[in-house]
Amino acid sequence: MTSSSSTAVSELSIKNVSIAYDDIQIIKEVSFSLKEGQIGCLLGPSGCGKSTLLRAIAGFEPLAEGEIHIDGELFASTSYSLPPEQRQFGMVFQDIALFPHLTIFENIVFGIKHWSKQEQIERVSYLLELVGLSGYETRYPHSLSGGQQQRIALTRAMAPKPRLLLMDEPFSGLDTKLREELVPEIRQILLQEKMSAILVTHDQLEAFAMADQVSVMSDGYIHQTGSAYQIYHKPNTRFVASFIGHGDFLASVVCGDDCVHSDLGEIKGHAPHGYDAGEKIDLLVRPDDILHDDESNFKGLIVNKWFRGSHFLYRVRLPSGKVVYCFASSHHDHSVGQRIGLSVHLDHLVLFPRES
Ligand code: ADP
Ligand code: MG
Repeated sequence: MTSSSSTAVSELSIKNVSIAYDDIQIIKEVSFSLKEGQIGCLLGPSGCGKSTLLRAIAGFEPLAEGEIHIDGELFASTSYSLPPEQRQFGMVFQDIALFPHLTIFENIVFGIKHWSKQEQIERVSYLLELVGLSGYETRYPHSLSGGQQQRIALTRAMAPKPRLLLMDEPFSGLDTKLREELVPEIRQILLQEKMSAILVTHDQLEAFAMADQVSVMSDGYIHQTGSAYQIYHKPNTRFVASFIGHGDFLASVVCGDDCVHSDLGEIKGHAPHGYDAGEKIDLLVRPDDILHDDESNFKGLIVNKWFRGSHFLYRVRLPSGKVVYCFASSHHDHSVGQRIGLSVHLDHLVLFPRES
């Protein structure tokens, strides 16, 4: 019997998991699940508990509450923990940690030494082709670029066909341009291998480019799990609304079903249920909700601007005095202090009860 026939897809379920260090709760009753072959992401600011949760999934942290299942099988509870080496998970970290004195081939076969030599050679050759590094078997890590080394680290983690791949900030050490190329590439590789994976990152663009499902974390809680589109356009807490993308809250009043009165005037758009006419709320507005429009009589005064290549991001002061973001094509180069026309494009309204 060989291990090379094991399946590489698994369903993960995290139920009400809490983790504590010295009685201080670091992870607080988090739940999420990941379907076979899906890529999930834990996204949140530094120190929010992402790595702690990932280590618990790997089997390196005891649970204070809750359960972790893989394909319906209990992997961890408060009274039981399957040892990490029996979980058959692969791991990739920020510090690439390839063995410098071993060749690329020797690095990759590290976890499959018990396979037959022929199977090792076939697996390495298959994986190197997958990551675009065919023929690199006899090279040493120092002769590879950072991006190539990170691809080899991924290859090494994938070699034993893990049931789940865990990645903790694997791209943080790479420069932006390389990251932008490598992240979607690695997503394609994982999809092709039908490998379930979890990525930990503090970088939302990386999360958007990699994951089918993003769990937004803060202070040990998961605020929301959903697609990148859902967490950007339908944030369910103020934290998610402010952490993901740019945005402002406008103190507004509900003026009926699907209608709010705000600093932008009366806005009609799909609004969530449960708000009554006259109720004071905060309306979330994002840069792409307010566009520069030469034809519009509704004006704002530019107080700041950023050139972003394909577009300008402006901060504009509305007639009410409130300052918001505004998007403009990069052909519309206006100066700070100039008044520009604005048009409002809010088709679904994101509302939060007004904070007193
Ligand atoms: P992230 O990966 O999101 O940056 P971590 O999971 O590394 O966050 O840390 C979450 C919190 O747990 C931090 O406040 C950190 O100081 C604390 N923490 C991490 N490891 C330990 C430990 N071994 N003992 C005590 N506290 C820890
Ligand atoms: Mg971390």
